[in-house]
Amino acid sequence: MKPDHPDHMPPADAVARRAIPPVICYPVSSLPRPDMAPYRTARDGWAKMAEVLVPARDARCFDVPAGHFFRITSVDGPQVGDLNLWNAADLTERFFSGKTRALHGTHLSTGDQMWSNLPYMRALATITDDTLDWYGFDEFGGSVHDVIGTRCDPYTHNLLSHGGQYHQCCHSNLTRALATRTGLPLPVCETHVHDVLNVFMCTGFTRDTGQYFMKASPVRPGDYIEFFADVDLLGALSACPGGDCSSEHSSDQAACHPLLVEVFRPKAPPAGWQPSPANGYDRTHGL
Ligand SMILES: [Zn+2]
Repeated sequence: MKPDHPDHMPPADAVARRAIPPVICYPVSSLPRPDMAPYRTARDGWAKMAEVLVPARDARCFDVPAGHFFRITSVDGPQVGDLNLWNAADLTERFFSGKTRALHGTHLSTGDQMWSNLPYMRALATITDDTLDWYGFDEFGGSVHDVIGTRCDPYTHNLLSHGGQYHQCCHSNLTRALATRTGLPLPVCETHVHDVLNVFMCTGFTRDTGQYFMKASPVRPGDYIEFFADVDLLGALSACPGGDCSSEHSSDQAACHPLLVEVFRPKAPPAGWQPSPANGYDRTHGL
């Protein structure tokens, strides 16, 4: 909400200033857009090597070697998932939601890539299929698979509910799952949990106040989003306590369902694919 300060009258040229057309911050025309055809071909004859069923209101970790695919599928009922990705060999390299948003926009779909934090800044994963790509943007400005939310967490819930204690938020679920997977202490794992890709969640910003909103996810059982690992990945997925996020999260009120994660090994990597290279910026030029 913008404050309405009585001394701040619009200047005489306010209309002209507002009329200046926007410029895309990060034109991605210089980023090679992945060619999807080799990924489609690579699915022929692939073999499922692992699957993990993420229980409702809980999270699980999964491993995806570089050059493999993974799918997140809705089962049983509409359900939103909060996804974290790390370089499996170094947890300090992790998904960078903010820069991914700056590059690809507020919501991701096929062909978009999930970038890692600085100073690594390289593609961790490529989205190779999305059965909800038909949704686009609705009349409210909502769309699916956002990188604008963070993850529901007990601290924000405590602030907004004046003391509420709820420990099955996605932040908490992801923290516990990472601790189980790595054996690291919970407080250490909490620092590795990061802003997510909100899988299947339908979100946007209200046009009048610019506030973050959610609405019932259009996902239905059988829908999936598919990724290709550009490096060895450790992933964690939380089945959000908000369920389809049609009403609220941070409580046990919403109907919740599990989410299925499957990992596939292609017979051969997609033609032309190489593991994600290190970022070419030379830090001896300055930080
Ligand atoms: Zn959540």
